[in-house]
Amino acid sequence: MAFDSLTDKLQNVFRKLRSKGTITEADVKEAMKEVKRALLEADVNFKVVKQFINSVSERAVGEEVLKGLNPGQMVIKIVKEEMDKLMGSETTELKLLPSNEITIVMMCGLQGAGKTTTVAKLAGKFKNKGKKPLLVACDVYRPAAIKQLEINGEKVGVPVFSMGDGHKPVNIAKAAIEHAAKNDINLVFLDTAGRLHVDEDMMNELAEIKENLNVTYTILTVDAMTGQDAVNVATSFNDKIGIDGVILTKLDGDTRGGAALSIKAVTGKPILYAGMGEKLTDLEQFYPDRMASRILG
Ligand code: GDP
Repeated sequence: MAFDSLTDKLQNVFRKLRSKGTITEADVKEAMKEVKRALLEADVNFKVVKQFINSVSERAVGEEVLKGLNPGQMVIKIVKEEMDKLMGSETTELKLLPSNEITIVMMCGLQGAGKTTTVAKLAGKFKNKGKKPLLVACDVYRPAAIKQLEINGEKVGVPVFSMGDGHKPVNIAKAAIEHAAKNDINLVFLDTAGRLHVDEDMMNELAEIKENLNVTYTILTVDAMTGQDAVNVATSFNDKIGIDGVILTKLDGDTRGGAALSIKAVTGKPILYAGMGEKLTDLEQFYPDRMASRILG
């Protein structure tokens, strides 16, 4: 299960701290060394780890903490508070425009990250909340992706707009919005094309869609299993096209958790949802505070 190893290691550090009646600066230092190692092994971004350890250490070696009644407990509390700061303790919801306007969500990400799956999960979720969504096939490079979106759309009962692979994505998106306006649809999800790596053509294509349409949200899908890379990908997309939030997929797998812990701190953009499986209902709202508690055990 994701995070188990990190949680075990942190629990060990906490146990040692709790067992001591008094603690010295050296004890705090030793504990921080272990926390640092555990976070790095969990693939948390190096800069994030460094900043985190510095913040905790600065607060923990103060007189009041070390001379206090329960110093070990106090240090643990500081770790928890700093973890909340790191992950952002507020849940960010995707707020849709009023029903008489069309909310446009552009979903982007690398190939295999889980875009086509996630976009269908989201559309299904909002359909169940009474919205009228439309899925749009803008991935013109892989005919299989269009087919997959059609299959997923059918499974969640959401219509799919497609023009095959003979048009530019921006023109497909424009036509889809016209179609939406005529058909009483108020939520449009653009499933864009990914590439194997961050690539200039992909970014230009996404930028062109953003320039020509009134995109409400640009959401990035990233695969939690890719660890540090997930954070680098998020940074690249944010720098090049600007993103509003991230959906972290495959958190049901054996991820070490680094991406979940680093994305907000590195990019400043929140994680909105977590993909928890291949089924189209396996999408959960992301609660950073709950995630932080789970990691800390
Ligand atoms: P895309 O290329 O970004 O559109 O990625 P896909 O939507 O085709 O997903 C790639 C693979 O990841 C598929 O086999 C999906 O079933 C799988 N997948 C997507 N999201 C999740 C998730 O949250 N958990 C798991 N376990 N698999 C997922």
